[in-house]
Amino acid sequence: MESSRPDHREDADRLLRATLPHAGGAFRLAVSGPPGAGKSTLIETLGLTLVRQGLRLAVLAVDPSSSVSGGSILGDKTRMGELVRHPGAYVRPTPAGTTLGGVARSTRDSIVLCEAHGVDLVIVETVGVGQSETAVAGMADLFLLVASPAGGDDLQGIKRGIMELADLVCVNKADGELETPARRTVAQYRSALRLLMPRHPDLPPAVMAVSALTGAGVAELWDALRERRAALAASGALARLRADQARQWMWDEVRAEVLARLHGPALAPLTAELERRVARGDLPPRAAAAQVLEALRTPGAAPAGADPGG
Ligand code: GDP
Repeated sequence: MESSRPDHREDADRLLRATLPHAGGAFRLAVSGPPGAGKSTLIETLGLTLVRQGLRLAVLAVDPSSSVSGGSILGDKTRMGELVRHPGAYVRPTPAGTTLGGVARSTRDSIVLCEAHGVDLVIVETVGVGQSETAVAGMADLFLLVASPAGGDDLQGIKRGIMELADLVCVNKADGELETPARRTVAQYRSALRLLMPRHPDLPPAVMAVSALTGAGVAELWDALRERRAALAASGALARLRADQARQWMWDEVRAEVLARLHGPALAPLTAELERRVARGDLPPRAAAAQVLEALRTPGAAPAGADPGG
């Protein structure tokens, strides 16, 4: 599913179409937050509790930076060391060398495969950088923001746009000397969130303190997540959210495919020539654009095998 080779993509599309009717049954949870907030530790603690209760869990990481830093794949493996060894859990780090678009695509596919395989909970984890949170929020039922206790008034520069995505904020590391600062940070998040537009107006985001290290508050966190999802399901909001996400997925695929063809080898000679003529002033840019669009529509203009066959 993660391969970008055209023949592999065709197999992947067939597999996806066959599995899609069996997907959709899992709780899809996005987990995000700044590096070091304790996301991996929390997923390990929560995940182990759940798999020991007999639930089946998949953890998919969305980290477009991992291909740059190189180290975080092994890092994730060791950090969730006990969870990866448990037969009830499947942990998949970001494949190396992919862009955010590529990671987002393969993560959506992986969610479908995991669900068809009977997983109860899919956690999509992302590091708090750039646009990956928005991408991941667009695949999940709920968005959990993990933060650490703040010193003073600053909320670790978590951007307003990210806070607005949150269904639940958990301030981690509420243990030992950090417990008091953690409680203070909970209060800060509560007042900050009151000024923001909640994702679901009738279900404003909750803020709680947890310790992934000691496990304190983790059971309560899971209860809160489950209750919230049940409320969204009961009101019909979850079905609407998933329908929106499916539509979004379709447009993301269209955009990706059009861009791939536009910048693919088949059109390169034409677009290079048109660029030269436009630069020389021989051809109006709008006329050149019309030629590019026409070439996109022409059969055979697509790179061989890029047509998903449907
Ligand atoms: P991530 O980058 O968000 O995945 O963060 P990690 O899970 O790797 O944790 C970053 C650091 O914080 C590690 O040194 C953890 O041991 C530590 N940490 C994580 N959770 C807790 C916690 O609940 N309490 C304390 N005191 N430290 C924690």
